Amino acid sequence: MIVEKLYEGEAAPRTPIRAGQFRMSMSEACTRRTGYEFLGYPPELSDADDRTAVVMQDGNLHEQDIVRRLLLKGFSIWNFGEGQTWVSTKVGNQTWRGHPDLFIEIDGVTYGLDVKAFRDEVFRREVAGAEEVLPGRYVITDPAIFTEGPFSIMGQMQLYLHSEKARELGITEWIVLVKNKNTAELAECIIPLMPDYLDYVTSRWRGFWGYMTAKRLPGRNFEKGSIECNYCSFRERCWGPLGELRRRTVELDDPDLVQAAQLWREGKDFEKRATTRLELSRLRFENAAIQNNSDRLLIDELEIRISIRSRTGLSTGYVSELLERLRRAGTLTDDVYNECWDETTYTEVRVADRRKRG
Ligand code: SF4
Repeated sequence: MIVEKLYEGEAAPRTPIRAGQFRMSMSEACTRRTGYEFLGYPPELSDADDRTAVVMQDGNLHEQDIVRRLLLKGFSIWNFGEGQTWVSTKVGNQTWRGHPDLFIEIDGVTYGLDVKAFRDEVFRREVAGAEEVLPGRYVITDPAIFTEGPFSIMGQMQLYLHSEKARELGITEWIVLVKNKNTAELAECIIPLMPDYLDYVTSRWRGFWGYMTAKRLPGRNFEKGSIECNYCSFRERCWGPLGELRRRTVELDDPDLVQAAQLWREGKDFEKRATTRLELSRLRFENAAIQNNSDRLLIDELEIRISIRSRTGLSTGYVSELLERLRRAGTLTDDVYNECWDETTYTEVRVADRRKRG
């Protein structure tokens, strides 16, 4: 056999993850998978037989092909080959590092440029709503397409765009050049700065280093049947026997399990009673605030503050983009869309207990 020998000894040239520092290319990845990597769990696909290495080398060949053709056509490009620069972005206390493919100057304006090579099926999905300016050459006008599907790339582009290097070079737009690996068709898209998307993507990683310090793994980010899990080299460890359960119902009467069922019922009962008690106290505090015309109460060493707040429905960056896309696609009527932004007011009761618990 030939095929069984061909990937032996291939090793992916990935920079190891360093504490406190994220790779921009992994911004949309599964946080749990990254946890396995950082905590040093051995991947199920050994380094000595790594198809990922081959996929990465393949990607580099497509990048080289685009660089060669850009140079041939006289474009002013830099940051390729030896000595490619790293860029970094700080978001809150997160530090991100990345390796942009290219910088390019067009009509006196500098852009970042990233080359992506996709198989035919993915390429078709990306150009579904694009304009075909020449046969096999597309311009994608809706960058939101890169926020969708498995392994989306928008997070990486936003981190590039918000980097110190982008600021230094005056870059406000990043070009994604997509190549169809099967047919060599090309598509380009200009990605603008999207601070809301940056918020969304970086919020996924909040608390990650806390988990790592405690040597714990974050929760699973994807479903077992997802493409992400199917391609993950920690899949067996992550899902284990729980991921292999048959779809059927069995009735059990093991005494330990019956006791566990009773514990669960008791727990739910406590939970319900606790909710009722907390709600009752809250109402009495609100009444007392009204009667005493005061937004701050001190009762038995509890400090209670009452304020009126407002919130806008579904107001997160990612959700707002998603709704906007659904509206444009005609899936959401304008009325339903507008309802999502209705402002509602509510009373916030914050309680601080000054009593030392024993
Ligand atoms: S199997 Fe899926 S959920 Fe588990 S670490 Fe991998 S990608 Fe994440």
